[in-house]
Amino acid sequence: MEHFPLFLHLRARKVLVVGAGLIAERKIALLLAAGAEVCVVARAAHSRVQERATTGQVRLQLQDFTPECLQGAWLVIAATNDSRLNEAVAQAASRRQLWCNVVDDAARSSAQVPAIVDRAPLTIAISSGGAAPVIARRLRERIEALVEPSVGWLTALARRQRTAIRKARPDLIARRRFYHWLLDGPVHDALRAAQPDQADALLQLALAEGEKPTHGKVLLVGAGPGDPGLLTLRGLRALNEADVILHDRLVSAEVLQLARRDALLISVGKTPGEDHEATQRRIHALMVQHARQGRTVVRLKGGDPFVFGRGAEELLALKQHGIAYEVVPGITAALACGAYAGIPLTHRGAADSLTLATAQRQDQAEREGAPHQQTQVVYMGVERLASHSAQLMAQGLAPDTPCALVENGSRPTQRTLHATLANVAQQARHHRIAAPALFIVGEVTRLGQQLAWFGETITPVTAHTEQAEAVLAA
Ligand code: SAH
Repeated sequence: MEHFPLFLHLRARKVLVVGAGLIAERKIALLLAAGAEVCVVARAAHSRVQERATTGQVRLQLQDFTPECLQGAWLVIAATNDSRLNEAVAQAASRRQLWCNVVDDAARSSAQVPAIVDRAPLTIAISSGGAAPVIARRLRERIEALVEPSVGWLTALARRQRTAIRKARPDLIARRRFYHWLLDGPVHDALRAAQPDQADALLQLALAEGEKPTHGKVLLVGAGPGDPGLLTLRGLRALNEADVILHDRLVSAEVLQLARRDALLISVGKTPGEDHEATQRRIHALMVQHARQGRTVVRLKGGDPFVFGRGAEELLALKQHGIAYEVVPGITAALACGAYAGIPLTHRGAADSLTLATAQRQDQAEREGAPHQQTQVVYMGVERLASHSAQLMAQGLAPDTPCALVENGSRPTQRTLHATLANVAQQARHHRIAAPALFIVGEVTRLGQQLAWFGETITPVTAHTEQAEAVLAA
């Protein structure tokens, strides 16, 4: 972090503004909105600033800046168009250990004014540390659209009722649940409908009723392949509701970053020496234990929980213990790796069916015939590439059948290796492809050589450009 964000309580505190042009005026308006006692020093003043002085909103001294002007100030804003004067103000402030913002000059500023979304008493501030104010402002526009004005009114209501809420819900978890209810339930609806009295009444009623006994529940959530942008909105909300998050190792750090700050994060990956069944038993026990304590548990899995994720086993365990659950799907590795490697999983003329398989079940593949005109996606296959590709050839697939390995799909480290069934194992070893990687077999992978757009693409074999074009044209 390059700057420490801080919100200042400026009510009735002196802030010195040096300069009285239009740029200064914009800062003056903000400072007044925050209740500051604004003193302006300048040789000449814009009519709007002059008007503020006549109406007593600011104190205006028409004079040259001298360090004495800083007397009694908590904060200084240098807003003149004279960079040497701004510099002098910043230096004088620094000598007195006063925070100083030089407008549009990050290098001279010891404090920066962020772009803000004002939903008083809720304030959202965004800063690029002076690196690219336009980016901060663009983000602000998006957040502005995202946070309804009613959120501010709700925050104000929560502030007024804070003591009452604390008294009626002394238990921290119950209180947190109450605040969630405030945001998601009828009180917020009433505020949206501009009915503050109704909102007040609903809140009072809920407090008087006392908390109904709540039961914990488990949300089985698919975290997607790694890129946090591929998490669903429902999944994001689950991460914000969670008291406890039990996550696999496959879940990316970027996704975990989105979780509520005070949620308890438990990594439940397989530990060395533990077999799969023991890991599962441990996970079942943790889910049941936390849910029984009334907590909202998010069981977070890479990709989709129902695609090679043992999701159903976990739900059966919950059902057995009478614990409520919901399932939030995620983008499975096959879809993500296909998309991010430019490999359509079906394509007219190249593949009209799709199989999702795991290399862990070799016997199954033996029962079936050669999968022509079909895309095969193999999970957990890197370690068994040699035997798996040999098996596909034994079933009748040609040794030059194109295939691809997508490593770390959708993550910044993504690599896609294009090969043929005959040489994929050797190429994967050569390029040190490691888990998590997905093995895609079929004509469609040729298209990936043409359509690749993300991460690194390795095409050690001669690119089958002509064939790819033929498939594209079909
Ligand atoms: N439930 C998960 C799959 C879990 S099995 C899902 O729906 O995606 C684990 C296997 O998934 C890995 O061995 C790998 O083959 C594949 N996988 C998961 N994430 C991946 C990623 N980001 N890139 C490539 N393969 C991935």
